[in-house]
Amino acid sequence: MPAYDETNIFARILRGEIPNQTVLETEHTLAFRDIAPKAPVHVLVIPKGAYVSYDDFAANASDAEVLDFTRAMARLTHELGVDLDSGQGYRVITNAGVHGVQEVPHFHMHILGGRNIGRMVD
Ligand code: 5GP
Repeated sequence: MPAYDETNIFARILRGEIPNQTVLETEHTLAFRDIAPKAPVHVLVIPKGAYVSYDDFAANASDAEVLDFTRAMARLTHELGVDLDSGQGYRVITNAGVHGVQEVPHFHMHILGGRNIGRMVD
């Protein structure tokens, strides 16, 4: 696992050094609008803890952090109006490392919706 880079842009957002459009904040999780949205709904969900990737988070975060993050994801799809009850739907993506073409080395999930996202994996 690469060492966590404290200068990455999401670490700076968490420290309040860079503004963001917050959608939801809980004890361990922050969700905000992507600066370059790829869909009408494009929200990034990050743990407040310093984790590089999904595998880092899943292996090393506390149960409380993992539960908080997971429940925040579900709450967000509902509050953003894209959950299955809305009749719309959404896609969740996380990019990791070189082959995943991860741009920001702080673990995050993308929630994409508001249009048909199309097939990426067949
Ligand atoms: P990744 O490729 O690492 O999964 O995605 C990083 C995402 O962060 C990209 O969709 C990019 O548009 C978004 N992003 C990069 N810099 C900023 C920023 O300063 N503010 C916000 N809100 N999003 C950012």
